[in-house]
Formats: sequence, C-alpha cells, structure tokens
Amino acid sequence: MVNLVLIGPPGAGKGTQAEQLVRSRSLLHISTGDLLRDAIKNKTPLGLKARVAVDSGELVPDDVVIGLVDECLSRENTGKGFILDGFPRTRPQAVALEYLLEKHGKPLDHVLLFEIPPEDLEGRIEQRAQQAVEVGAVIRSDDNANVLKKRLLEFQHALAELSPYYENLKLLRCINAKRPIKEVSKEIEALLGQPAKETELQA
Ligand code: AMP
Repeated sequence: MVNLVLIGPPGAGKGTQAEQLVRSRSLLHISTGDLLRDAIKNKTPLGLKARVAVDSGELVPDDVVIGLVDECLSRENTGKGFILDGFPRTRPQAVALEYLLEKHGKPLDHVLLFEIPPEDLEGRIEQRAQQAVEVGAVIRSDDNANVLKKRLLEFQHALAELSPYYENLKLLRCINAKRPIKEVSKEIEALLGQPAKETELQA
C-alpha cells in the first residue's frame, strides 16, 4: 500500500502521472479539481457554490474541499493506496488532512513535489486545450492565459505554506517534472520501490 500527495503547478503533469500510477499500482486517484468539476457539471448545490471560484482560478473554501476529500476516503476503496492530486493547497487543508488520515488509519508515505520552470507551463496548458479540441472534449474553463497567471500565483502561495510543512514531516520528495512523461514515471516508480512493468509505462 502506498499513499501519496502530488503537489505541482498547473500543467506540471500531476494528472498524467496519477493516471500511470492508477494503471501500474491500482491506486485510487482523488483529484479535488475533478471532484469540483463534476459537481459543477452536475449542478449540485456544492457545484453551484464552487463554480465562480473554479472558473476564475481562485481557491474554493477549505471546509468545502476538506469535506469532499473526507467523503471520498470514507466511500471509496483505498486498499492499494491513494493519490491525492490538488489537495492540500493550504496549511489548514494540510493540517485537516493529517487528522483525516489518522481517523481513516491511512498515513501518508510521500509528498511528491513536481518541479518545473514557470516558462514551460503556458505551452503545456495550450497543448492540453488543443488536445481537448482534437478529441472533442470540453476545454477546462480555467485553461487560458489570464486564469493561468492567477493559478500560478496561487500555487506559489500554496508551495510556500506546504513545502516547509511536509519537509518538517520528512515526507517531501522533489521530482524533476521538466523531463518527458516516461522519465518522470521512472523516477517516481524508483522512489516508490518496486519498478512497474515496462509495458505499463506509456511513452
Ligand atoms: P486543479 O484541477 O487541481 O487545477 O483545480 C482546479 C480548480 O479547482 C482550482 O483552481 C480551484 O479553484 C479548485 N480547487 C481544486 N482543489 C482545491 C483545493 N484543494 N482547495 C481549494 N480549491 C481547489
């Protein structure tokens, strides 16, 4: 069992690496961004409340996302472990997570910090929007240059709160996320201990 938190700016590849880990290790992927986008799409009361913040790249209130993660950990099977992607983003969320994980008896093993120069990110976000167009998927309402600037500032703020917090707990592991997907996957698999089968890692 391995329980992970992924921290990184938008476009750093957290979602892609999470998908690889779901495939190679059958971990449960919990993305607060995905949970919020689903709630917005389904027009649930929570979605209606969160919509403005998500569309403009601002943070949704701590209690809302903490509640979402608590519900998810209670409801879903995390037998092989889980990946938290996009949560926590503030110190209060990190503190709440510690309590939640103690309550659920599921301690964290590693916090992976995806490091990538900011100048690489705009191109990656544009590529993500372009790929969504090509496969006929919906483009994320917050994948545009203006909102990206705000999300990057928000990330710098989150990083300043979270990195000392997890460094102190000796859980922080830095990942060089500038490299190709497969190399990043290998670095993560090496860190986690058992190499995944080559065929399970996508180029
Ligand atoms: P993401 O998909 O992780 O980039 O998240 C998209 C948007 O969802 C963010 O810009 C926030 O508006 C909201 N969001 C996701 N996770 C959180 C969180 N942990 N705390 C507050 N807001 C969040």
